[in-house]
Order: sequence, then structure tokens, then C-alpha cells
Amino acid sequence: MTGHRHNEPESDIVLRVKAMEQLLTEKGIITAEQIDLVVDHFETKVGPRNGAKVVARAWSDADYKKRLLSDASPAIAEVGFSGMQGEDMVVLENTPEVHNVVVCTLCSCYPWPVLGLPPAWFKSPPYRARVVREPRAVLAEFGVDVGDDVEVRVWDSSAEIRYMVLPMQPDGTEELSTQELAEVVTRDGMIGVASV
Ligand code: FE
Repeated sequence: MTGHRHNEPESDIVLRVKAMEQLLTEKGIITAEQIDLVVDHFETKVGPRNGAKVVARAWSDADYKKRLLSDASPAIAEVGFSGMQGEDMVVLENTPEVHNVVVCTLCSCYPWPVLGLPPAWFKSPPYRARVVREPRAVLAEFGVDVGDDVEVRVWDSSAEIRYMVLPMQPDGTEELSTQELAEVVTRDGMIGVASV
């Protein structure tokens, strides 16, 4: 199972989910606010915490980092994360010379096992179009100032390959435990639109 083909229009499943949400709210079983809370939980808390553990492990274990960069899916599975939309992962290392940023230009392909659900802006047409055309301008809007001497690489996700960025480890965090390091890692840092 390789997930959706990313050039298809929104599918039957999306329409069914929308119909169910409408029915549940109309019947007063749940409110739109409750749904938003659940989505936010998976978007910003549960999901990205998985990726953060992978990043923290890579920062504190050089051999693990090597495995992660050469063959990401099995290395991520070592930490306990695998499954739908994460079968063919590629992890991109940010360095002082190269800044990586991830997009899905055609829709919203995203590595669910490590990052959870994609944020709304990731799925928005302006981000998808502009990050390819003017990545430095988009990064600046996110508050990331990439120096002129740094190469910016934009990676287009697809049903076949899902990307995650390995951010640079912040200075002064060498003594932190893996658990403490994971708390430093942000979702946006693993998409490449934030420094950590
Ligand atoms: Fe896609």
C-alpha cells in the first residue's frame, strides 16, 4: 500500500468524511470546535512528537544518523514509527551549507507516521506554488533568514517519496538527554520552514 496517488482530485473518502462531520454536528453529537481540537491535537502534538524523537536520536547517535540519512524508513521504524504514508521516507540533513524545505506541489503528501497531519498552510495553494518559485521569500515570511551563501533545496513530496528535514542541532544542546532534545524539535523545523 503506497497511499493516495497525488494527482487525483479529492476522493470519495473525503466526501464521506465531510458528510459524516456534518451529520454528527447537525445531530448535536459533536461540535465543530471539538473536531478542531482533535485535529489540532494530531497536527501539532501527537504526530510531530514522533518525528522529534527521531531527530533527537539522530542528534545524539552518529551511527543512527548515518542509517537515517541512508535509508530512512527502517531507521524510523527502529524508533517505533511506521505505517501508511511513511513507507518510503527520505530524511534530508540541514547543514551550514544547505537548507532543505519540503512541499507537495500537487496536493498534500506528508509523512504521517513522523509528522501527523499536515497543517492547513502546507496544503494551501500559495505555499505550494510559491515555495518552489521563491523559497527564500517564503522562508523569510516564516521567520527563517537563509544566508546568501546557503543553498536552498526544495523537495517535492509524492505518493512514492515522503520527506522529513533533519534540522541542525542548536548550539549548546550537546549535554541534553535524548528526551530533552526531542522537546527542542518543532514540526515546522522538520518541514524546513523553521530553524530549531
Ligand atoms: Fe500529494
